[in-house]
Amino acid sequence: MSPQRNHPELSVVVPVFNEGENIEALIARLVPVLEATVATFEILFVDDGSRDDTFARIRRVISQDSRIRAITFSRNFGKEIALAAGLDHAHGKAVVLIDADLQHPPETITAFVAKWREGYDMVYGQRVDRSADTPLRRWFTRAFYDLFAKFGETPLPPGAGDYRLMDRKVVDVLRRLGERARFSKGLYAWVGFKSIGVPFEVAERAYGTSKWDYRQLTRFAFDGLSSFSTLPLKLATYIGLGISIFAFTYAITMAVRTLFLGADVPGFPSLIVSVMFFSGIQLMFLGVIGEYVGRIFAEVKRRPLYIVAEEIGSRHAGDVGRAETVRGEAPPPPTGDDRPRVSAVP
Ligand code: UDP
Ligand code: MG
Repeated sequence: MSPQRNHPELSVVVPVFNEGENIEALIARLVPVLEATVATFEILFVDDGSRDDTFARIRRVISQDSRIRAITFSRNFGKEIALAAGLDHAHGKAVVLIDADLQHPPETITAFVAKWREGYDMVYGQRVDRSADTPLRRWFTRAFYDLFAKFGETPLPPGAGDYRLMDRKVVDVLRRLGERARFSKGLYAWVGFKSIGVPFEVAERAYGTSKWDYRQLTRFAFDGLSSFSTLPLKLATYIGLGISIFAFTYAITMAVRTLFLGADVPGFPSLIVSVMFFSGIQLMFLGVIGEYVGRIFAEVKRRPLYIVAEEIGSRHAGDVGRAETVRGEAPPPPTGDDRPRVSAVP
């Protein structure tokens, strides 16, 4: 196998979850763009535990085109993790991340590559408008990014999403960050490097519906805020302090009042109200702390980020890829080629 095949100029990573109908359409649009833009490329599908015919269709396109490869997870791990796995398995000198539903117009890759050749290490797509989303989702997105801009420790470029190109050195840095709660938009901004945005129009989804529901989005938002900000924890301190100061002055006032005016009728209602108020505050912040502790727990367990059930495509035809080892631990037990293998972000 030629070295060119092992290290193509560009890898295109496509996370897919139940995207059966989009596979052929995506390939039909993507391949001509890539052929016109770069000398060598690979398309790497990361099948995030699809339950429809996605993997069968990927197999079919791979049998017709040796530049396409795929890995499939043992179950659904979520898009963020699928992207991390894509970065782990991509061999290109630069890597493009793109959605499978054609919401990210493949033609923009030409502009990405042009900027990369000018010397930018990270070229991110900037959505011109979000009219493809529902108004409610737009509102949540907006609120989240406003919050993040105010309190997050890393500024995010406006309108930047996952659609982007990254140079090999950025990819290698990202792969070394082993966070479990993946908020990759934050990580991309956090690693820095010479970056630039390229505007693009978000298209309508080609087939199917969005794979995120509001519960997942909320979780994602909290992951983002908690991994890039300690504000929720600080809030507990400040509110606690404020309430203590208030309680202290109130106590003094009461003492003075009692000295001069004598005790009035025992204040049963105010007692109950204050007890409930303070228990509420305490429970709330226990919850906040619990969220952080839960995330710390997830990190210290050091489970692999994902489990690859199968890998198909030309890479297995005798090339010497990077050995897949679980991060910082002993090499994996020898596995037959078709047995599930475990890998993690190193
Ligand atoms: N996706 C994934 N795993 C998931 C959910 C989504 O790999 O658990 C993929 C999906 O197949 C698509 C991309 O992530 O290629 C974007 O998903 P979607 O279009 O549902 O998100 P949206 O465009 O609504 O943000
Ligand atoms: Mg989409």
